[in-house]
Amino acid sequence: MSIHESSIASNILQILKNEAEKRGFTKITRARIVVGQLRALNLETLSFIFEAIASEDPLTEETTLEFKEKKGRVKCKNCGHEWMLQPEDLGSGSRSLLHYSGVVTGFQLTCQNCGAQDFEIIAGKELYISEIEAEREASELEAET
Ligand SMILES: [Zn+2]
Repeated sequence: MSIHESSIASNILQILKNEAEKRGFTKITRARIVVGQLRALNLETLSFIFEAIASEDPLTEETTLEFKEKKGRVKCKNCGHEWMLQPEDLGSGSRSLLHYSGVVTGFQLTCQNCGAQDFEIIAGKELYISEIEAEREASELEAET
């Protein structure tokens, strides 16, 4: 079981609890998480761990996590060319990837336009909760974006 996914699962749970306290939610039914491709997270593992720890609290026992994956996008520092990362750019299978601070690093790219290998990542490192669906005491449904 991954330490990485476990710590993210407990972060998500903590954020949901804080939001519930602030806004008076009694039950959270759904949370949508935006995950960048470069996070290289195992979403099944993350859901599994989240459900295990969330089930201990009536607030989150029925919470479903929904994931929206954001593609990685890079920009050449030499010519400014931008392109979307392809799965093959990240090496053969996620097992060969290097992780640093939860973000994939150590992959090599060559600009299709000028051949330079100097690039910056402009998308794909996201990890945040974009939407929470919950019930309040009066039990009306609320969706926030
Ligand atoms: Zn270039």
